[in-house]
Amino acid sequence: MDNRFIRRMRRIIAVVLSAALITGMTGCGNKNMTQVSEKGADDEQELNIIDDNYRNYYEIFVYSFYDSDGDGTGDLNGVTEKLDYIHDMGFNGIWLMPVMQSTTYHKYDVVDYNSVDKEYGTLEDFERLVEEAHKLGIRVVIDFVINHTSSQHKWFTDACEYLRGLPDGEEPDAAQCPYVDYYHFSREKESGTYYQVSGSKWYYEGSFWSEMPDLDLSCDALKRELEATAKLWLDMGVDGFRMDAAMHFEENDKAFNTQVLNWLYEYCKGINEDFYMVSEVWANKATIEDYYASGTPSMFNFDVADAEGKIIKAARGNYKAANFVAAMAGYQTDYAAENEDYIDAPFITNHDMGRVANALMKDENDMKMACALLMMMNGSPFVYYGEEIGMSSSGKKDENKRLAFVWSDTDKTGMTNGPKDADKNIAFAFEGAEQQLEDPNSILNYYKSAIHLRNENPEIARGSIKIMEQLTKDNQAVITKTYEDSTIGIAYNTSDEKISIELSGTELENMDIRGYLSAGGESVTLSDGTLLMPPQSVCVLK
Ligand code: CA
Repeated sequence: MDNRFIRRMRRIIAVVLSAALITGMTGCGNKNMTQVSEKGADDEQELNIIDDNYRNYYEIFVYSFYDSDGDGTGDLNGVTEKLDYIHDMGFNGIWLMPVMQSTTYHKYDVVDYNSVDKEYGTLEDFERLVEEAHKLGIRVVIDFVINHTSSQHKWFTDACEYLRGLPDGEEPDAAQCPYVDYYHFSREKESGTYYQVSGSKWYYEGSFWSEMPDLDLSCDALKRELEATAKLWLDMGVDGFRMDAAMHFEENDKAFNTQVLNWLYEYCKGINEDFYMVSEVWANKATIEDYYASGTPSMFNFDVADAEGKIIKAARGNYKAANFVAAMAGYQTDYAAENEDYIDAPFITNHDMGRVANALMKDENDMKMACALLMMMNGSPFVYYGEEIGMSSSGKKDENKRLAFVWSDTDKTGMTNGPKDADKNIAFAFEGAEQQLEDPNSILNYYKSAIHLRNENPEIARGSIKIMEQLTKDNQAVITKTYEDSTIGIAYNTSDEKISIELSGTELENMDIRGYLSAGGESVTLSDGTLLMPPQSVCVLK
């Protein structure tokens, strides 16, 4: 290829990129628009996506996402059909909630670890999904639920059958039935979460639910089975596991639980050195730190999540921007102290939490601010499907947090029925994805711009944070992030007022605006060293 051809190709790419930005903009500025028109494509601000384990993840509840065959239930082929949507949003990772054979709609109780749930499709469908995702640079993480199985799993039903036939007073023999060692069976009802094996004098532990018997992860034979399962999914191209309920493997036994995580992580790393693991430790920051000592890369950052987490509180003005950036610097110091290779996994909500729209009283600007705060964080942010269109939840009922994704307000193609036991007619305050894509001011286009900014600036995910104390007070904060030899500045205004920040005389004085996000749509400007920030905005400088 000669230089002229390369330049032409770059120009075409730049035009396509800027067109994508223009359709996805207003309220979100980006320097490359003006650069493309004024100076030509050679100065374009390119995407700078590094192919490592820092990624932008989209959490998908397959059941409620996209129905490819018209039976009302989302399926794997539906996810495959919508990979372009996911890719266009800027996500380069997906977390699929459980896809293994199960008896419940949510599928967190597995009956067969080595097959795909029939409602979702086949192993072939799954392999195709992974293959197509990889073609788009999207890595695939799946839920691996090893804390418990379904009470209808053959291991459990065989073990119960064996115990029923065991003569009184005789000890179970794993040589006759290996599965008696897979669970916590006891002759005593050891706690309130022990349930009787029907037709016997035996009890078993089911700490979440009687129909979810807890596995005994100290059992070597079980661990060999789970290794074989891990290998099966990795061989199909899975890039990582999301570890459900990691702090419950053994209740109140961090040492044991971290050792379980480490065992599985090391096993999987032996198969694929790029293997990724992210674990659910739904606890305070100090406990999450302890789990980083497992040597596994990521813990979900519950400290910033949910209605009372730091992101939502900062977005609605109950928590100062200055405190928010101090918390981010704290994660960096304290997580790295336990595992220097940690990758934070921040998120605002997941399938167990009320939606952002509900936590923020459907205030669109606050919802956009929350998105900006998430997308400026280090690590791999996770976005629960539907948050990008501001879907609603209702009350405490789990089904109401997992409703059908609204692809369009007019075209119902692919829309699922959602969970059968969800309340009907839960009102949504915002339009469907199709309509929002056409509206430059929509929440969806705001998410898209925020992720785009992240994809242009690898320092956001990977940089070492330094707070510029002299510019940080109350709802104004300025930090730098340095990754390798590149430093960016990030300025925050979480207040409802316009603010000006004097950059002259600071280490940011020679920087330009790389891009910004503003909830109300006004521009961020920089002239003569003064950065003018509209209400609820963030700005990346370099
Ligand atoms: Ca279907």
